[in-house]
Amino acid sequence: MTGIQIDTITAASRKRKVHIETWGCQMNIADSERMLALLEANNYELSRDGAETADLILLNTCHIREKARHKVLSRLGALNELKAKNPDLRIAVAGCVAQADGKKLIEQAPQIDVLIGPGKIDELPGLLRENMATGQSVVATGFDRHARDENDVGREAVSDDPVLHIPSVSGKPEVTRFVNIIQGCNNFCTFCVVPFTRGREISRAKDEILREVEYMVRNGAREITLLGQNVNSYGLDLMGRDDVPEDGGPFVDLLSSVAQLKGLERLRFTTSNPHDFTRPLARLFASQPKMGRHIHLPVQSGSNTVLDRMRRKVTVEQYLERINWLREEVPAIAISTDLIVGFPGETEEEFEDTLRLMSAVRFAFIFAFKYSSRRGTAAARFAGQISESVKVERLNRLNAIQDVITAEMVANEVGRTKDVLFIYESRKYPGIWVGRTKEYRSVRVNSSANLLGMTLPVRLTSGNKVAMLGELVN
Ligand code: SF4
Repeated sequence: MTGIQIDTITAASRKRKVHIETWGCQMNIADSERMLALLEANNYELSRDGAETADLILLNTCHIREKARHKVLSRLGALNELKAKNPDLRIAVAGCVAQADGKKLIEQAPQIDVLIGPGKIDELPGLLRENMATGQSVVATGFDRHARDENDVGREAVSDDPVLHIPSVSGKPEVTRFVNIIQGCNNFCTFCVVPFTRGREISRAKDEILREVEYMVRNGAREITLLGQNVNSYGLDLMGRDDVPEDGGPFVDLLSSVAQLKGLERLRFTTSNPHDFTRPLARLFASQPKMGRHIHLPVQSGSNTVLDRMRRKVTVEQYLERINWLREEVPAIAISTDLIVGFPGETEEEFEDTLRLMSAVRFAFIFAFKYSSRRGTAAARFAGQISESVKVERLNRLNAIQDVITAEMVANEVGRTKDVLFIYESRKYPGIWVGRTKEYRSVRVNSSANLLGMTLPVRLTSGNKVAMLGELVN
């Protein structure tokens, strides 16, 4: 055997190490896991020692916060030092910043070897090979309009996906996992960059999703969250229609099928757009015991005039109708929402409409944000941008109201016994197990036993807006 042959065999048999950093939403976690699956099929494995010893560093970025590009550039600057020590190190940037900034990002950070948007992640192995062969930075952004467009409208798509065994990015079995079922959004709310960074709606084939969930459950998952920017529209692109059928359509059908899978204990989904929320979907919460007793239903504002400027396509009255459907089916269902304060032109009266809606609905928890303009969106060009000081003042008032509601809800829970699915053990405080109720409240319990993946009755003893404390019953 010659020296050249030995080198070749050594290089081919050694697995390359990938280090992945994921920012932003659960969809990015699911995308990172899919990229890891693709890389594992191409002789990579997760680095156990972080970025220092990696052959490939993958940054999966988020564009939702202000200064997103600045944050990515700052991390790339730090990674440049590693690249100086190891010229063979490859750096890939994925996610919404890659899609939004494209080649401009490479001009500012030429150390990027591969830049890949969320619509192109399946091309990652090929792009890495191209980069290694040419030494040139490679870019893949944009979205392929539905690959099945003409041929498959009107019938169920069949999976041709070779990578359905999706590992977790933590490198260990996880009790709760995320599965992307639909990419993109067709709605174009005036404040939102998603249709630009994630493209139009493209649903995955149902059998592909079922097999992916089956694999995760076989590997220890007990709770699955189906993900999309607008999960309620799942499958409409495959049917060639814009509105959800009266029977709840493909999304209700998908949830019903996933819930049949043996070993799965809890099924959740997010994000659900009130515009496409149907009564059959509300009924499923009552008829299907595996469904979590929580829904995240973003309303954004309690003012019809603001909702109109946001182009949300629902009124406050229609939103409240959906809340009634849910509470008629499951009176104790926990409802959370997103709220934006200081949207362009928001008057004091319009803001107070939002406070009134909060008091009427009594959300279990909220994610409240100050409006911040996003390049390329319609609202960025609206007149009447609100000053930072007014936004801060409104956000504080809104959070103060929610704190009171949450405190009352938490006090109401004390003394009750709830089934808690245990998700992980605290690293900092071994013996403290963290789990969630069906209503999505975080619960901490002290136990010397291994509770991971178990669903056990817990008596809630105290709590605050972050978590409740409890004791195992028996
Ligand atoms: S529905 Fe959601 S993802 Fe789609 S444009 Fe509106 S806010 Fe963005």
